Amino acid sequence: MATRENWQLGRSMQYPFAAPPPRRQVAYIFDANKCIACQTCTLACKTCWTSGKGQETMFWNNVETRPYGGYPMGWDLKLLDKRPPAAWKGEVCETKTIFEDGGPLDPPTGHRPVTEDYAAPNLGEDDVAHGVQPGTHFDGEHAAWMFYLPRICNHCDSPACLAACPRKAIYKRDEDGIVLIDQERCRGYQECVQACPYKKTFFNMVSRTSEKCIGCFPRVEQGQVALCVESCIGKIRLHGFLTTQGPPRADNPLDYLIKVRKLALPLYPQFGTGPNVYYIPPLHVPTGILEQMFGPGVEEAKRLYRAAREDRTLLGALILFGSQDRIVERFEVQGDEVVGWSGAGEEVTRVPFTEPQHLRAAYDATWGAYRHNTT
Ligand code: SF4
Ligand code: SF4
Ligand code: SF4
Repeated sequence: MATRENWQLGRSMQYPFAAPPPRRQVAYIFDANKCIACQTCTLACKTCWTSGKGQETMFWNNVETRPYGGYPMGWDLKLLDKRPPAAWKGEVCETKTIFEDGGPLDPPTGHRPVTEDYAAPNLGEDDVAHGVQPGTHFDGEHAAWMFYLPRICNHCDSPACLAACPRKAIYKRDEDGIVLIDQERCRGYQECVQACPYKKTFFNMVSRTSEKCIGCFPRVEQGQVALCVESCIGKIRLHGFLTTQGPPRADNPLDYLIKVRKLALPLYPQFGTGPNVYYIPPLHVPTGILEQMFGPGVEEAKRLYRAAREDRTLLGALILFGSQDRIVERFEVQGDEVVGWSGAGEEVTRVPFTEPQHLRAAYDATWGAYRHNTT
């Protein structure tokens, strides 16, 4: 076992391999306040990457309703049941990670879903915790609540899938931290399926290999955001890179929102894999429940989000979400606009804080036409 720093846990931890961090780390932020579960992201990924034989029930991107939904069924509950609840002392997680539960030669703690667990990808859709009570109001946390949780592979800092693979078929790319399965090396032992706490590797019964989200790497190599990000109707997603060589940069929108302002939080950081999909927690959901999912920063993230309207830089970073098909690596607020640049320094987006409105007269003399209710 090697010792690694895990910034999400505020401590070092044990992991089967020593490896330097990649040159930069792909990362995503999903704003759980804005997702409408339209599943456009799911279909964009499915039609592009998993429309083949053996991939019928395989969703690299899925959107589930919390608290009752989950794909595959009970993916997190089955692991949480095996382990003590996360215990945090300040920002330090004192609970063992899935790599530290057993001896140095033991695989990460996990479980392998059965075929039926993949049969109902949207089980529990729109079910509300505690039912809808008379007198429920929309001020602060709700007695009755649900929220949509979009999920893809986390391209983890310390991937459990990679650690568990006896064939060394799984690797993490140095140029961007994307985690991939080499289909030539994979023999379908499914140790990755068992080990991934997020259940984001899938066994293909036709090819007899395991497959997973490829991070849309052919697009990333061209500077484009992932398909599930570009297609998002709710504009809830931001795709970019975290700085791994040196301190976080306040002009990098991912560094800024995740590490500088700590508005976006990892999902189940206590598992220890260092997941790189970060969530802005939903304001209306009880904080205690969210802290088990996203760690101790929930209350502060909610406070920041509520105050974002008065914070130009924070608001500027938030309105970058879904505003372009290119990856923004640097941003700056300029007057009433936020501007984003690619890694090559090309301007790829310019978003106004307030959308302009154009009022037109009902009668257009040029065309002799009447227009009603147009702005
Ligand atoms: S989410 Fe699972 S499949 Fe993806 S890198 Fe992490 S451990 Fe591997
Ligand atoms: S990053 Fe690409 S491959 Fe991964 S879930 Fe999104 S669309 Fe699918
Ligand atoms: S496309 Fe966006 S809003 Fe629609 S379900 Fe996916 S993440 Fe949610």
